[in-house]
Amino acid sequence: MGKLQLKPGVVTGAQLDELFAYCHEEKCALPAVNVTGSNTINGALEAARQANAPIIMQFSAGGAHFNAGKFLDNTGERAAIAGAIAGALHVRTLAPMYGVPVVLHTDHCAKKLLPWIDGLVTAGEQYFSTNKEPLFSSHMLDLSEETLEENIEISRTYLERMNKINMFLEIELGVTGGEEDGVDNTDVDASRLYTQPDEVLAAYDALAPAGSFLVAAAFGNTHGVYKPGNVKLRPDILKNSQERVHTARKTKNSKPMYLVFHGGSGSDPKEITEAISYGVIKFNIDTDTQWAFTKPVKEYMDANDGYLHSQIGNPEGADKPNKKKIDPRGWLHEGEKGYVARLIRAFEELNAKDKFSFG
Ligand SMILES: [Zn+2]
Repeated sequence: MGKLQLKPGVVTGAQLDELFAYCHEEKCALPAVNVTGSNTINGALEAARQANAPIIMQFSAGGAHFNAGKFLDNTGERAAIAGAIAGALHVRTLAPMYGVPVVLHTDHCAKKLLPWIDGLVTAGEQYFSTNKEPLFSSHMLDLSEETLEENIEISRTYLERMNKINMFLEIELGVTGGEEDGVDNTDVDASRLYTQPDEVLAAYDALAPAGSFLVAAAFGNTHGVYKPGNVKLRPDILKNSQERVHTARKTKNSKPMYLVFHGGSGSDPKEITEAISYGVIKFNIDTDTQWAFTKPVKEYMDANDGYLHSQIGNPEGADKPNKKKIDPRGWLHEGEKGYVARLIRAFEELNAKDKFSFG
């Protein structure tokens, strides 16, 4: 199979389906990185340019609020809605300048956060009416804390609405362990960290007629990076889930589901490769890229310590100005470069580097 040709800009609808099917075929996955503002968005665009591969950018509700400004009141998720829209427009304006395709997505949305997605779907419908494509490529609902029936039913309702504007939906079955963005699953019962293939089949039956979707199935994966503990990663759950649906519904494709690997930070490359072979096409990475941004900033501060105690006066002289060192652009760009480098490593580990051509 030749390299998949994609246009720079935001990938949606049939083209997104083609992209994920190609990833299945080529046994590669795309990094889905959490972005929180222009520094991380531009870093993600640059990483995609250097890797010659599309990138998935996602806003969490907290990240979207941050993009709008932590100063803003967030009653009814209004700041998180505005922040996500502003971020999407930033991506849409700059992706063609970088010459890269981007999948625009939002991360975990629990039941109490549904007003956030309601606002974004409404914005997506408005955008669609003038531009014939949605603002975002996809959203995620995470109703894994609810019963399976309720999770599937609410997800189906959203997918039916989103499908009308060519949007995809990601759902979560089972629970991703660990803690992220204020959601703490560190104490959850261990059995819930493993999705049952029958749950995946039930979701498939309800969602497949409604539109295109991705499944985040829990296979012992955790958010954040912790000392290796008592939860064992079981990628075979992903394989069994694909087989369950393929056999029960006699699907043409032996991998009928687009699967998502949450909590990818700190993962072993061999486990990543195995998960991809079972149909993972989206690999979430956050903690590792947070660290990759922060580490060079700390190094900058440490290396320039003598210049960062006052505006005037440094090791070169008591009357020397420090303007060049205290400009935040200096240390923010160091963070951006660390972020880009870590994402390029992710593209390599996900087997996605240089697999695409843009034009
Ligand atoms: Zn996650």
